[in-house]
Amino acid sequence: MKSRVYFIAVNNVDTAVDIKIKLTQLLLDSRILGFVNKGSSVCIKMHFGEEGNTGFVKAEYVRLIVDYLLSKGAQPFLSDTNTLYKGRRTSSAEHLRLAAEHGFKRELIGAKVIIPDEKIKADIQEIEIGGRFIKTAKIARVFLDADVLIGIAHFKGHIMTGFGGALKNIGMGCASREGKLAQHSDLAPYVAMEKCTGCGECVKVCPVSAISLKKNKSHIDNAICIGCATCIAVCPFSAIDVHWDKGGELIQERMVEYAKSVLKDKKDSCAFINFAIKITKECDCLAKDDPRISPDIGILASQDPVSLDKACLDLVNKACGKDIFKEVHPQRNGFKQLEYAERLGLGSLDYELIQIRLSD
Ligand code: SF4
Ligand code: SF4
Repeated sequence: MKSRVYFIAVNNVDTAVDIKIKLTQLLLDSRILGFVNKGSSVCIKMHFGEEGNTGFVKAEYVRLIVDYLLSKGAQPFLSDTNTLYKGRRTSSAEHLRLAAEHGFKRELIGAKVIIPDEKIKADIQEIEIGGRFIKTAKIARVFLDADVLIGIAHFKGHIMTGFGGALKNIGMGCASREGKLAQHSDLAPYVAMEKCTGCGECVKVCPVSAISLKKNKSHIDNAICIGCATCIAVCPFSAIDVHWDKGGELIQERMVEYAKSVLKDKKDSCAFINFAIKITKECDCLAKDDPRISPDIGILASQDPVSLDKACLDLVNKACGKDIFKEVHPQRNGFKQLEYAERLGLGSLDYELIQIRLSD
């Protein structure tokens, strides 16, 4: 059966005011959040944007969604997990500060912002999923505990998955740091020798003693490393990293298995909204202003994350007259994530696009 995807068009010349009017119309006409009940705790899964990034979904748009939920008597809050890479979203305290700088703070957004801390055991939940690639998923508990999960994503390109939208926001974005590295597991961490000062901080935190100092430089034994990514987070000189451009083929399947584990108990209590606006080559983790690679498309919403991402992909490619994500990331086939997600029962590639227009 076809899933419904609601769509309101946005043009490159639309102002923030225009976009807010259109988003309001989309929420009202689609009734996409109509299932949310009074008193329900609603987790809005966000990406608050790396410092210097300009593509992330703006706080003023999210505020409208928060207000809609508050008007229904629900209890919304915003959340995201810390990153695998080293940046301002690596630790919960700094992540919160950056989110606030981007307008995501209670006084402005009308809802609390929660960044789980993977150092606190209770913040992370392990779920046995027995997937083909992931046996035990490690998810930030906040996304599982909420009555309702709403994924708000910026639809754009991605260095490792070709493109990213609703599935990536949930699959990668709800995983703990350890879970993120498990999804990237073809990528063992490496030490950039020129940056390593031999301070030994990574040696102290490695849970399996995979790191030793040799000639005053850190050395990681990949045969012992369990991929927890703690060393990446603690190195004060950003000397430990992974080769982001060398991701293996399986990252999309792992990411989809993670998405399935997050959504396992949320069948009728989740919804997804993609902003296909300022569509960039790279994701919002990029700490700079990435230019557009496509005309703006619009805002799309569905309860089916597979249909939603597929509709975004189709509209972007139609507007560009070619498979633009394949062109900018020729080594990636982003369609894999959609096919695998459909196979795992996360949604359908077959959808009905319902266009919403502004009322006179
Ligand atoms: S924490 Fe970083 S700088 Fe210090 S020893 Fe480890 S890799 Fe080198
Ligand atoms: S990723 Fe974890 S297990 Fe591997 S070297 Fe770093 S701290 Fe140790």
